[in-house]
Amino acid sequence: MIDAVPQAFALVVAAAFGAIVGSFLNVCIYRLPIGKSLVWPSSACPHCGRELSWYENIPIVSYLALRARCRTCGARISIRYPFVEALTATMFALAWWHYGPGPLLASRLVFGCALIVLFAIDLEHHLLPNTITLPGIIVGFLFSFFTEPGWVASLIGIIVGGGVLYLVAEAYYRVRHEEGLGMGDVKMLAMVGAFVGWQLTLLTLMLASLSGTIIGLTLIVTKRGGMKYALPFGTFLALGAAAAATVGPAILHWYLGLL
Ligand SMILES: [Zn+2]
Repeated sequence: MIDAVPQAFALVVAAAFGAIVGSFLNVCIYRLPIGKSLVWPSSACPHCGRELSWYENIPIVSYLALRARCRTCGARISIRYPFVEALTATMFALAWWHYGPGPLLASRLVFGCALIVLFAIDLEHHLLPNTITLPGIIVGFLFSFFTEPGWVASLIGIIVGGGVLYLVAEAYYRVRHEEGLGMGDVKMLAMVGAFVGWQLTLLTLMLASLSGTIIGLTLIVTKRGGMKYALPFGTFLALGAAAAATVGPAILHWYLGLL
């Protein structure tokens, strides 16, 4: 009971830190696809270009206080901003609570941040930037020397993750003569492999394909077939990887028990 107060305090600090990181992820999500620098210039309203003052840059709070509108031009501020900040804050608090301080916490947080950025950019631009996936592969592999899944499983994960999707992309192209999967998906699954190892990478691919098929069939049945490309595969890979990294070991345990 005596430990409860410092523990609650630590969670609040973790969430606050997460919200600030989330605010930076928003900058990445907005600027990476259009090739702008992440550090310069400082944040501005995308509509009227006025620079934001410090009190307009407070995660979540500013969005609520400004009632989702720019103070000067009145342009709507996307709900994505507070959403990404709240999501990142929650992720930091939960990860701190679940893993406690250590290399696994750091690895999972870096991985989670990369997934949030990739999810949001792929959803909006149908693009998975190399500036996230390629350094992600290297960082994930480096982490594996200090924590899960270990460098051997990580290395196999990179090869299996990238390799499987590369073969699928190649086969799809030969059969359909159109690009179904981009090289961005290939590099993204290689990054997933680097962080979580090959077993959870295969699980990620299964979960992503399954959820993608379910959503795809739902769109066809509800006659919204024009939405075929509305949800790119990278968004499903991000959701699948998030599930695999958290409840994946339990799913694998259950599945192998059935065999
Ligand atoms: Zn404005």
